[in-house]
Amino acid sequence: MTDRARLLEGLDPQQRAAVTAPRGPVCVLAGAGTGKTRTITHRIAHLVQRGLVVPQQVLAVTFTARAAGEMRTRLRGLGADGVQAQTFHAAAFRQLRYFWPRVLGEELWSLVEHKFRLVAQAAGRLGLSTDSDAVRDLASEIEWAKASLLTPERYPDAAARRGRDCPVPPESFVRLFEGYERAKNAAKVLDFDDLLLHTAALLEDSPEVAEEFRARYRTFVVDEYQDVTPLQQRVLDVWLGGRDDLTVVGDANQTIYSFAGAEPRWLVEFPRRYPKAEVVRLERDYRSTPQVVGLANRVIAAGGAADTSTGLTLVGQRPDGPAPGFEEYDNEAAEAAGLARAVARLAGEGVPLSEMAVLYRINAQSEVYEQALAEAEIPYQIRGGERFFARTEVRRAMSALRVAANGARREEELPSRVREVLAEVGLTGTAPTGGTARERWQSLNALAELADELFATDPEADLPRYVAELDTRAAAQHPPTMEGVTLASLHAAKGLEWDAVFLVGLVEGALPIQHAQGDETSVAEERRLFYVGVTRARRHLRVSWALSRGQGGGRRRRPSRFLAGLASGAAGHGRGGNRAGSGTRRRSAAARCRLCSAELTSEAETRTGRCADCPSDADEELLTRLRSWRRERARQLRVPAYVVFPDSTLLAIAERRPTDTEALADISGVGATKLERFGADVLSLVNGSA
Ligand code: ATP
Ligand code: MG
Repeated sequence: MTDRARLLEGLDPQQRAAVTAPRGPVCVLAGAGTGKTRTITHRIAHLVQRGLVVPQQVLAVTFTARAAGEMRTRLRGLGADGVQAQTFHAAAFRQLRYFWPRVLGEELWSLVEHKFRLVAQAAGRLGLSTDSDAVRDLASEIEWAKASLLTPERYPDAAARRGRDCPVPPESFVRLFEGYERAKNAAKVLDFDDLLLHTAALLEDSPEVAEEFRARYRTFVVDEYQDVTPLQQRVLDVWLGGRDDLTVVGDANQTIYSFAGAEPRWLVEFPRRYPKAEVVRLERDYRSTPQVVGLANRVIAAGGAADTSTGLTLVGQRPDGPAPGFEEYDNEAAEAAGLARAVARLAGEGVPLSEMAVLYRINAQSEVYEQALAEAEIPYQIRGGERFFARTEVRRAMSALRVAANGARREEELPSRVREVLAEVGLTGTAPTGGTARERWQSLNALAELADELFATDPEADLPRYVAELDTRAAAQHPPTMEGVTLASLHAAKGLEWDAVFLVGLVEGALPIQHAQGDETSVAEERRLFYVGVTRARRHLRVSWALSRGQGGGRRRRPSRFLAGLASGAAGHGRGGNRAGSGTRRRSAAARCRLCSAELTSEAETRTGRCADCPSDADEELLTRLRSWRRERARQLRVPAYVVFPDSTLLAIAERRPTDTEALADISGVGATKLERFGADVLSLVNGSA
């Protein structure tokens, strides 16, 4: 079969129509998981393969860094390297760096990553509140105004028309906005929206620049087009300069940035703006099981007619899978511990950690889940693979590796040679706990594992070969897979997919978020966000929430209204059998420390049966034997060690020295399955006969 036929083979007839349409306007309007991103990446690859476009002349844009990374990975897989796939902002930044010095005769101003300080100063000068919530609200309002192409003077009218809830009186906001812009220009810095504004202005005002740009880029593709803002649309229009070689794909039901100015009308009206466009609608959902798809359809349908603007119902194409789970807990710590157990269980069943994601509404929610995963010794990562090669530790590691690769040859196998070099820049044997140190370690470890992979496929591979592989990947922005559960906000998860998705913290106030509860349009957007979350799952989907924040805090929270009618037992829909709670909810009475009787709070404490402050009375020698036994078993079963038993369970065994099955089963973390698989081994180790 020719490459060309192979490229078209994995597409259904509608997808194929969009992929093979001649250069010119194409619009794919379809629901989640129907293959929109697949269609555009195949379309690009197809055009490239047939020689209809040069890869360097294609510009593909999307909205989040992670989604752009996903697009690059897929393009690379299809042999379409060399195509620019970026966020709007990154593409604009790149263009400004090139054109700004030429047009303005000076270096590009630097970028302020966070406008908070500038906004706070401007607010302070006007005597407005400078507490951090107030400043954050003002900053978001500035962002909305700029994304909506509003100048300070035009803000009050437009804001009133849109029913914006301005954080301060509009006249004060106008002065704040002006003050902010003045201060920013005086400091010669740019904010994120300026990248787009200046790109548009530069191309609009300078015909030579526009001409040069348009000669360079001829084919444009926009993924997630439902989330385009007026400002981004203006940039797209100047890029095109009246040409129509534009493919857009999107799903109005996934509009989740209208709070920031996104407007799905450009997507919906595309066929009218380009009457010659090839318009394709897709309904087959290739991503998720019928169980997940069914839930997604119900989430959208429950939003009423206003929400189903595409009028499509998804039809699941994959084989059946498990029913989505709904789990209710008394407090957040219990919810997080339950999450960690569910993750470990799936890992035990063979689902790789990199194929699992924990998604929440806002980043501030992540901490409690991070803590539970860390306690259960389950690796996780918060930053995605995007910009992996730009990280400081990765850049340092690469230069160290390059130096080593240029040095004298050593008779050593690649994995140990690479680890030796990485040790010089901070790679330690085990992961440090918590925060940035842990993230740095994970990047370095990913580099080490890449060496393992390369060595496994090619035992002859040496350091120069490995460094060359890294360079290729860096050029294609193709980061190594990081072993670990992904933790991300729902917004950051857009466009991505995992085998298992855990939607956590689903209570009123979080989803819909507090400040969105006032009006119907904001609640509708929150519901779409829930739909985005549900549709990220290929097979396993688990939804959870906690009825109070802290322990013994009383039940002050209600499950998200979006759960009503989806899970029995949720959101006041307790129709008889409370499936939501059974089994996981409320573990009998609170566990207490066996040494000082204090109430135990964390998962690790419950396992060892004593609080973290009480001294361990473990049999050190037994612990050592248990550890080496675990290492061996994990190796045989090809699972990470914590899947056999986490450290805290081993410690509990070494402390309590159970001599029979009953005593062993009493130890938290030793369930029926573990007892059956490992019970005999552990007991013989304890009884000293191993
Ligand atoms: P979203 O709206 O969430 O961004 P999408 O419409 O972009 O979703 P894709 O990510 O392109 O959907 O596709 C979803 C999954 O289905 C991917 O794993 C993709 O490879 C697979 N898929 C899409 N089309 C087909 C097909 N015709 N045959 C087999 N698998 C497919
Ligand atoms: Mg997509």
